[in-house]
Amino acid sequence: MIHFTCDCCKREIDLEHEIRYVVRMEVFAAADAGEEAIDDDRDYLQEIEDMITRDEGFDQLEEEVYQQARFDLCSECRDRFVNNPLGRAAQVELGFSNN
Ligand SMILES: [Zn+2]
Repeated sequence: MIHFTCDCCKREIDLEHEIRYVVRMEVFAAADAGEEAIDDDRDYLQEIEDMITRDEGFDQLEEEVYQQARFDLCSECRDRFVNNPLGRAAQVELGFSNN
């Protein structure tokens, strides 16, 4: 039997008694036209592919342009994540409690 561990609290997820949740995250650079004019003719995908094949500087470029991650979560951490995907609840609560 395959065992899964919650990537958040590191607890083993008992699939007989609870559900395993999967979070898939994508972070990528938005192609908004901003300070730097986007060159429509520029083939970014092709450039990335070229870098892969040349095997140089790809790790850095990949991190800047696109990141993907996948996490297994237990039900408790799933609830926490859904309520606060960016992990900022503590800061917000602190801010309010100062009033
Ligand atoms: Zn957990």
